[in-house]
Amino acid sequence: STPFGIDLGTSKSVISAARNGGIDVIVNEVSNRATPSLVGFGPKNRLIGESAKNKQISNVKNTVDNIKRIVGLDFDDADLEIEKKYFTVPLVKDAATGGVSAKVRLGGEQKEFTATQLSAMLINKLKDTAHKETKANLEQVALSVPLWYNEKQRHAAADACRIAGLTPVQIVNEVTAAAVGYGVFKANELPVDEPKKIAFIDIGHSSYQISIASVKKGELKILGSAYDKHFGGRDFDYAIAEHFAKEFKDKKKLDVHENPKAFYRVLVASEKVKKVLSANSQAPFSVESLMEDVDFSSSLTREELEAYVQPLLNRVNVPIEAALKDAGLTIEDIDSVEVIGGCTRVPSLKQKLTDIFGKPLSFTLNQDEAIARGNAYICAVHSPTVRVRPFKFSDYNQDAVTFSWDKQLEDDENEIDFPRDHKVPKEFTIKFQAKQDFEASLRYTGSPIDSKPIAKWQVKGVVPKEGESEIEVKLYVGANASGWYTLDAAETREDTLVKVLVEHEDEEDAEPEYKEEKKNVKKDDLQIIVLSSSQLTESVRNEFIEVENALTSTDKLVADTEERKNTLEEYIYELRGKLEDQYKDFASEQEKETLTALLLKTEDWLYDEGEDAKKAKYIAKYEELASKGNIIRGRYLAKEQEKKEANRQKQEA
Ligand code: ATP
Ligand code: MG
Repeated sequence: STPFGIDLGTSKSVISAARNGGIDVIVNEVSNRATPSLVGFGPKNRLIGESAKNKQISNVKNTVDNIKRIVGLDFDDADLEIEKKYFTVPLVKDAATGGVSAKVRLGGEQKEFTATQLSAMLINKLKDTAHKETKANLEQVALSVPLWYNEKQRHAAADACRIAGLTPVQIVNEVTAAAVGYGVFKANELPVDEPKKIAFIDIGHSSYQISIASVKKGELKILGSAYDKHFGGRDFDYAIAEHFAKEFKDKKKLDVHENPKAFYRVLVASEKVKKVLSANSQAPFSVESLMEDVDFSSSLTREELEAYVQPLLNRVNVPIEAALKDAGLTIEDIDSVEVIGGCTRVPSLKQKLTDIFGKPLSFTLNQDEAIARGNAYICAVHSPTVRVRPFKFSDYNQDAVTFSWDKQLEDDENEIDFPRDHKVPKEFTIKFQAKQDFEASLRYTGSPIDSKPIAKWQVKGVVPKEGESEIEVKLYVGANASGWYTLDAAETREDTLVKVLVEHEDEEDAEPEYKEEKKNVKKDDLQIIVLSSSQLTESVRNEFIEVENALTSTDKLVADTEERKNTLEEYIYELRGKLEDQYKDFASEQEKETLTALLLKTEDWLYDEGEDAKKAKYIAKYEELASKGNIIRGRYLAKEQEKKEANRQKQEA
């Protein structure tokens, strides 16, 4: 399968594939290099990506935006309150997982879809886009997620890939993907020995992330990271929108907050203003018949915008300082600052970053595509068939977790902390004395012992030796490159006596001499049963896969039907035109009369009961017309052929 990378952004998603020895960004059905991260629901089918964007204003109550923000989020997470403001659909609790679902109307019915399902819908659409464009077989994917995604959110992202029919080979931190791309594609500009210390900064639509990496030719290490989860382009848009909402209220006494569609239109116009202000010092703002037929136009200057986003600009330094501290570095240690993400086009933000680092920013990477390209490369690394330029990199786990097990002996410890800066992938072993079978669990460090664990396992088969009451147990814990922990194996250990060769220095000819030594070896393999995990259970996942597949076939049927309807409509006009033109001399008056009547009848049907018919009906109607039209067309083509032949003979003569 062709290695495939997805950068699923809050506002737009970019996809890329490793093919023909390089990495290409893949364009969508309207040749855009990014697809809106939107899922809309209509009276018949779903609208995903560009089609959702086209209908977003008229379908605002059924279009889900910001999906990435609620994937894997607990419904009772405090962040949900903040997120709600960015959603135009109701968010409800998903009873099965305790997560967030969106309530929408699809096909005339009220439906709820979990955030993971919504994300899967986007991924499925992106996969389809990639498939149509490349004709390649896509099975595996590397998908990136923000640094602040916790273990549960990472599992949810992986589940979303699976629901979309893809195997997630790695869930990658977004900034890491960009940094890896930098290391791979800029290899020739990198030092061979002493690594460069580079700060990679991504400010997108909803969040601000920074990772500091040491990079040299062929190798990258993430040294430290930090983020501001609530800092991105959408906060700028809202600041502008609130300003204009207030101005509109002051001037026209109308409150756009009372009308979701009106507020949304202000928001769209505000984003436009923001972009214009990146290149100009002043931008016009105008929305026609915003509310109650009242038009609204105004303007904004760059200085005004800066004033409105001052609270954001004032905290630009915070993640930078945190990341430096995390990496054990100071600002002077940073050799260059690589900047990506759409929001870093805002001049005041660029200025702020430049001032903090005291050096010009680098825009070596493609601001919009670097992450997707890095993902495709990382997916290719996992591919058994595709060969890539070798590059060593390790990521960084943001979560500090605590692994604990049922207490076995009164005085023994029964937990171990894994701090947040563990390089991944990595393996750990844990040894302790056990009396019997036990349960082990993983929780975020600091969270209460009785809170729902991230994962829980049962370990079975612990049998102490004859006459003993306890036995040593060894657990193999993996910290996965995707950012989650696994309990890979468990065994009991025992000491046995083994013969070892005694080494004698300087006596090469001496007789080999052995001694008996105590050695700790495996006794029994233990059975591990997963009691709970942050992944979807297989049955829920299978159910979601079924729902997704059914929705995809409905969408396809609706699209095909629409296409057939258009074909029929176009054919009516085409044939009618030709009957009076090219085909004029090739049909009898009688034939023309019947066909014209049939065309009129079909047209009337099309705009009446045929407005919403089944696909087969459109095909049948088309064929009825075409069977007659083709006879006339045949005569016309024969004549044309005859003329051509005559022409040719004339020229030859
Ligand atoms: P995230 O990374 O937060 O999940 P994303 O990947 O969708 O979101 P990007 O594509 O990096 O985000 O950036 C999109 C943001 O950049 C939007 O808020 C958009 O308005 C903003 N943006 C794009 N172009 C400009 C510009 N010329 N000036 C100012 N802002 C811009
Ligand atoms: Mg992004």
